[in-house]
Amino acid sequence: RVVYPDTTAPVEVVLTAYDYFRMGVAEFAKMRWSACIFDEAHKLKNHRAKLYEAACELPQTRRFGLTGTAMQNSYDELFNLMDWACPGCLGEKKPFKLFYCRTMQQAQRFDVDERTLGLGRQRADALSRLLKKYLLKRTKAKVLAGQLPVKQDNVVFCELSPLQTRVYRRLIESADFQVLVRHAELCDCGSGVQRSRCCYAAPTGPPEGAPIWHSLDHDTHVGRGGEPMCPYCMCLLCINILAKISNHLELLKPNPKDPPEKFERDHAVAKLAFGEDAHLMGSVDRVDNNYDRMAAATNCGKLLALEKLLALWHRANDKVLLFSCSVRLLDILETFLVRRGYVSCRLDGNTPQRERQKLVDDFNKSSSLFIFLLSTKAGGVGLNITSANRVVIFDPNWNPALDLQAQDRAYRIGQQRDVDVYRFLTSGTLEEIVYQRQVYKQQQSNMALDAVKERRYFEGVQGDKEHQGELFGLSNMFALASENVRMQELVARENRAARDFYRIEKVGHASAGNEAPLGAKRQGRGGGGEGE
Ligand SMILES: [Zn+2]
Ligand SMILES: [Zn+2]
Repeated sequence: RVVYPDTTAPVEVVLTAYDYFRMGVAEFAKMRWSACIFDEAHKLKNHRAKLYEAACELPQTRRFGLTGTAMQNSYDELFNLMDWACPGCLGEKKPFKLFYCRTMQQAQRFDVDERTLGLGRQRADALSRLLKKYLLKRTKAKVLAGQLPVKQDNVVFCELSPLQTRVYRRLIESADFQVLVRHAELCDCGSGVQRSRCCYAAPTGPPEGAPIWHSLDHDTHVGRGGEPMCPYCMCLLCINILAKISNHLELLKPNPKDPPEKFERDHAVAKLAFGEDAHLMGSVDRVDNNYDRMAAATNCGKLLALEKLLALWHRANDKVLLFSCSVRLLDILETFLVRRGYVSCRLDGNTPQRERQKLVDDFNKSSSLFIFLLSTKAGGVGLNITSANRVVIFDPNWNPALDLQAQDRAYRIGQQRDVDVYRFLTSGTLEEIVYQRQVYKQQQSNMALDAVKERRYFEGVQGDKEHQGELFGLSNMFALASENVRMQELVARENRAARDFYRIEKVGHASAGNEAPLGAKRQGRGGGGEGE
């Protein structure tokens, strides 16, 4: 549908949405455009996507892309975007990846030799020089310098509580998780075949004690090319369960409103997870599923950290935005705040559109409203909450771009006070691994775009099976602290100077009971959050 302005003059500018453009590309391609501008140009990262193909139909001269993330996950994305904007500017893809990316990634490993390191840095410089011809970089910090106060990113590493640790360990040692982690090992029956093709093959799987496995219909799990998808079919479920434990144990509570199969599975998982600790919550089998005894902050590393930080901030007259992706977690947090006597308001997906602005205005005006509870999805867009100077992201998103949007609620024009952002992570768990991957990707991006000399923290190389190191691979994801190389140790072993820069102070059980100053790990470059 084309809307023409009420004038006889020829149309000079066409403004369109991607869907309409994609569907009407034949019409668009007929016209002689002087320039094409693509907002959110990171949508052009996949050269197989329909939108990408359509965008390539446009004239090759004067293509412009605007984006905050030229490279989010891989060098492929960067290449595709640049190759669309200025066809051929980076040459052919294969030699590009071999010459620049492989060398730079290998040089980023922790245990790399001097020669590879030198070569990697040379290539990073060369790539950065090449990109500068085509890429104009503007950061919020630079463009709006003087108009915006300072934003500080912090990562708060919380310890799992002893109960959380036991629950976490019970699960990763359970039959379900072991099917996943050890699927490629040779089968215990001595057949010489790997486990997932032998005694643990779908649909039979492990005999018992595997409620997740047995809740799935493995007969239907076949890929498009006929390849088996099991046991990978369990990945997301397993990840979500571990994430729940990291955030709050009460999230394991089965919801009677769920469909019966899901309720049954959640109940079986909770039973398995709590094991001999079940009495601590008044038994998992009670009909009312009362997990009240879980609510104590001492059972939750993140709540304990939050409790301490809130006490400090309340005294300092700060105002806090508290974000969570999950409505159930918001419920838990709200109950917690009420019990502590803090005045808060709340906005989530269920808040009617017309009431949202009023909530925001009230919060901005009122001096007694201390905390604003927000769901990342509903609160992440279109609100202007400039009275808050502390932002807590209780359960970080797997996609850091969404967390950035959340931070920007408070960090925008009109903001008077400096803003501190706190991302809560439980150390040693899956959350920390995901965080490390984000840091790794951000480092790769910084190296490519700016030739920044990043510290070499990691042994893993993305997409390289020989060098999975501590970052990539299933067995690393489903492991716990002691079996894992942790961020703090990685930082410490780099050099002592790094330790001064990264103030490593833990908020959580390690400091519980003493009055040590509360701190959070300060992030250097590479943690994201530069806010382009
Ligand atoms: Zn076997
Ligand atoms: Zn399956």
